[in-house]
Amino acid sequence: MRLLLFDIDGTLLTSNGAAGPAILRALSDLVGRPITLNGISFSGKTDPLIVQEILRANDVPEDQVAALLPHALQAYATLASAAITADTVRALPGAAALLDVLAPQENTHLGLLTGNLERTAYLKLDAVGLGRYFTFGAFGSDDGDRNALPPVACRRAGAALNRPVALQDAVIIGDTPRDIACGRAHGCRTVAVATGAFDADALAAHAPDTLLPDLNDTRAVLTALVG
Ligand SMILES: [Mg+2]
Repeated sequence: MRLLLFDIDGTLLTSNGAAGPAILRALSDLVGRPITLNGISFSGKTDPLIVQEILRANDVPEDQVAALLPHALQAYATLASAAITADTVRALPGAAALLDVLAPQENTHLGLLTGNLERTAYLKLDAVGLGRYFTFGAFGSDDGDRNALPPVACRRAGAALNRPVALQDAVIIGDTPRDIACGRAHGCRTVAVATGAFDADALAAHAPDTLLPDLNDTRAVLTALVG
């Protein structure tokens, strides 16, 4: 069996920075002063890690960072539900057609592996009609460390499919070096797509098992994913 674990932002869809202002507003409200991005990049990071990095970059003391984190994530999820709409989220070319072809494939199961909180993950996917392809996954709300997420995804897949799912059955599909790294950490096959913040050369430097320009060529992607 094959478990295909898809990243969301930069891989299946782009949310055009809709999350950024929501996170900054949530953090500013909590800290009681304007919190700015200070150059923190979101690519490939879990939402808890993004929140921690932004707070640290705004000189919030470490003990407060830990104390604020759960409140910040909750506030962000609430604000994000207003910010994430069909107007701000766009499916990336080929994503819907690919999932359509993959969903009925024998012995192949679709899951998520994303830094998004579970709630915002499905908000984004549903905004572009892709949520219906997924019933389980591992999320930033499970662990702030992306490398901890593949075993979570396999466990959830096992529970959903009522059979054991090994890490070696999993393929990690994502748009950043962090996606590649989290797959490699567990011996999963990795497929990188150059539709996020990293171009093909930048991803190639991290040696994914397969490197795709995008998800447009359904047949080529299908070969890469299910052989
Ligand atoms: Mg991504």
